[in-house]
Amino acid sequence: MKWQRILKEQLKWTRSCSDDLRLSSSDAVELYNNAPLHALMRAAHARRLAMHPHGEVTYLVDRNINYTNVCTINCQFCSFYRAPGHEENYTQTYEEISERIRELEAIGGSRILMQGGVNPALSMDWYVGLLQHLRKNHPTIDIDCFSPIEIQGMAAVCEMSTLEVLQQLKKAGMHGLPGGGAEMLVDDVRKNVSPKKGAPANWLRVMGEAQSLGLTTSATNVIGFGEDFAARVEHMRKIRNLQAHSLKHYGTGFTSFIAWPVQLETNTFGRRNRGQNKHVLGAGSSEYLRHLAISRLFLDNIEHIQASWPTMGIAVAQMALLAGADDAGSTMMEENVVSASGTTKLDATETELQSSIIRAGFKPRRRNSDYDRLDTTLLVPELDELVAPPPVIML
Ligand code: SF4
Repeated sequence: MKWQRILKEQLKWTRSCSDDLRLSSSDAVELYNNAPLHALMRAAHARRLAMHPHGEVTYLVDRNINYTNVCTINCQFCSFYRAPGHEENYTQTYEEISERIRELEAIGGSRILMQGGVNPALSMDWYVGLLQHLRKNHPTIDIDCFSPIEIQGMAAVCEMSTLEVLQQLKKAGMHGLPGGGAEMLVDDVRKNVSPKKGAPANWLRVMGEAQSLGLTTSATNVIGFGEDFAARVEHMRKIRNLQAHSLKHYGTGFTSFIAWPVQLETNTFGRRNRGQNKHVLGAGSSEYLRHLAISRLFLDNIEHIQASWPTMGIAVAQMALLAGADDAGSTMMEENVVSASGTTKLDATETELQSSIIRAGFKPRRRNSDYDRLDTTLLVPELDELVAPPPVIML
């Protein structure tokens, strides 16, 4: 069968790294259509162990900060934003943001991930002033902030190029750019769910510019908008191509790839489409694990694949660690964008993350935003003896 031949080639690629055996888009679609989940997980886990043979799963102690919910972009799936003038609008002050960071510092966290809506009332001076304030008052915290659509919004308000905006933000203290807003980098899908975000090329251009400046970046992917498998592979192909370009020209690229199914429980996109769209929206655990395993095989130039416990739950995220993922994400502490669409609990303690990693058979290891490994105190020493050696893979 064709899928068996493709996975055999992928196991060979895992051993030899021969570019001739790189997973093509058509073969990736074949895997989606016909390969059984257990075979995909086996091949992806072998690749993961070849790239990260130490038996560790990393995680980050960080905090999400959603500094404003004002947004003019109106993505169909988003339940977080409020249009300008809405009575529930908010924008946090510098001090309110600092207060949240102090709570993170108190538990030894190392990074904030700060994102909001595209708020036309905020000037470039406000953003630069915010970063300078945070850099001065929280010198040990990495500030990863503002997804590409926010950078585009700032550029439009300030009549600057996105590269100039990034240069100013970097100078003021920005460490990296979150991968949010990629969703599905395919024209038709994007036009349907986020028409005001513009073409996929915008997200890719801003990310490429950030990488050219040495900013830390990650790539994301939301599945389950009714797209076909070819669209998911096309999204990954664009990410892989940009990664190859950035590694070649700037020596740096995406640290990681993180995918999750669209959350539809409370938003109108889900309700509106459930009765009308012939495609099934969202994705269950099996489909998510298939996507994750294929992403590990396809994205051979991205080092880290992250499991998404906030959207899939801890139990499925543990399975993801056996399907190609080597990172358990982060504690988050506070998240408002994805949770507004129906996911209930979006924070985890460090103890919970460590326990879930150990019970999946790996050693937990703290990291920073750049995936440097940090000293790690085991908070659940009684579970330590449960850690099994990484499963043996017969290649
Ligand atoms: S997903 Fe982001 S850009 Fe889209 S409406 Fe929500 S806040 Fe705005």
